[in-house]
Amino acid sequence: MPDFRRLTARLSLRLRLTLWYVALLAMTLLIFSGYIYWRFHNSVMGQVDVSLKAIASQALVNVDPEGDRGIPAFQHTEEMAALLHQTGETDIIVRLLSPTGKVWDGVGYYRDVPVAVPGQEGFSTFTEGDERTWRVYSLPLRSASGATVGWLQTIQRLDTVARTLEGLREQFYWGIPLALLLTALGGFFLADRALRPIDRITRTAYAISASDLSRRIHYHGTKDELGRLADTFDAMLDRLQAAFEHERRFTDDAAHELRTPLTILKGQLGVTLSRPRSPAEYERTLRGLEQEVDRLIRLSTDLLFLSRLDQGRVFWRREPMNLSDLLHVAVEQIGALAAEKDVALSDAVEEALWVRGDQDHLIRLFLNLLDNALKYTPAGGKVQVMGRRAGAWVEVAVRDSGPGIPAEALPHLFDRFFRVDADRSRRTGGAGLGLAIAREIVRRHGGTLTVQSREGEGTTFIVRLPAETSAPQEEGR
Ligand code: ADP
Repeated sequence: MPDFRRLTARLSLRLRLTLWYVALLAMTLLIFSGYIYWRFHNSVMGQVDVSLKAIASQALVNVDPEGDRGIPAFQHTEEMAALLHQTGETDIIVRLLSPTGKVWDGVGYYRDVPVAVPGQEGFSTFTEGDERTWRVYSLPLRSASGATVGWLQTIQRLDTVARTLEGLREQFYWGIPLALLLTALGGFFLADRALRPIDRITRTAYAISASDLSRRIHYHGTKDELGRLADTFDAMLDRLQAAFEHERRFTDDAAHELRTPLTILKGQLGVTLSRPRSPAEYERTLRGLEQEVDRLIRLSTDLLFLSRLDQGRVFWRREPMNLSDLLHVAVEQIGALAAEKDVALSDAVEEALWVRGDQDHLIRLFLNLLDNALKYTPAGGKVQVMGRRAGAWVEVAVRDSGPGIPAEALPHLFDRFFRVDADRSRRTGGAGLGLAIAREIVRRHGGTLTVQSREGEGTTFIVRLPAETSAPQEEGR
């Protein structure tokens, strides 16, 4: 059933387009052929009138008012003979009428034409029966005093003209419907071709479900409106698929990360509860458990932050702030830990490095980088924090003399849940979210976070943030 409905929906659009073509063409053809017919008719009738008038005026000079029998008649001159020849060729009749309508004289089949006494000089048309129509031009014969003593008429039968016009009309009667029929077929074919990709898009969209986003239209036609629609659709599916997979991986990884500390907790609880223990043993176990719970809290905080970030629910202040002060505070905060680990921590940050941003998020970023540097630097090593202004940027480098990061790991370093060496990292308590969060924070500040590292030669993380150039900077100096 749905197939049938889709078919009629598509058909109706094709039909509608076709009908529009046909209606427009019909209108154009009707107006055009009406105009042609009108022009042709006028021109043919004009020619008839011109020759009737010309012959009448030539014949008039050859009228003998007395004639042989005392009534007006045509003279037998040379000019008249030429005229006779001409009228014979064009089927024009010339005749002389008395004022009462008696035929005096004539040339051609003048007796066949019914007589109607003209009222005045000029053209008239008269018809007898269905078929026979004549065009008549009447000229008065005048006496010396100017009185009308008779009429000279030139007459042409309009049958041939009528037949020609009829022929033209007939061509229109056949031609127009035929042209419309061909247009309808052609239009239908074109509309069908044009709409076929849409049908493909519809079918693809229909077949897509959340569990299978791999389908694409793969349109190979020209890059017209439909081509672009199909490409846009494919690109949208690419993004959707990437987003879905990203989401799925994130959930998988998160579940996995949560399970590990919980399994450890469960194991420790099981072992401890297997038999009665001394208070000291209980305390040791509880301290171990506390560490795992801390990890769980850190992990869930990070997960919550990333998830809020993805949904755009994290609030970002954008206020001018002195990054130098913030870095001094961060270095101070981490100082005790460095001393405890016997790592030399040095602060080489220029004063008054102003940026615009969110203090809470930026401190989180630098504590994260410093924490990593300390975590991975063995005793006796050193960690340096350098800050300077570089053109329109403020550049902060956190350098350590730790083990470095293998080249093959560098491209993935900022991916969520990525750890260079899972065991090492787990021992240090990380779930691989710290750098993903750090990069996200820098990105939201319009900056970049990069890493330079070689195995065995330490690591440098470089944060570049747009420098703030407005008033507070002057105050800060
Ligand atoms: P974690 O919380 O597990 O440390 P991060 O996202 O902060 O996660 O770091 C990802 C990985 O990058 C870590 O597993 C670690 O192996 C590596 N890494 C981060 N910083 C450093 C560094 N300063 N020196 C060496 N390796 C580092």
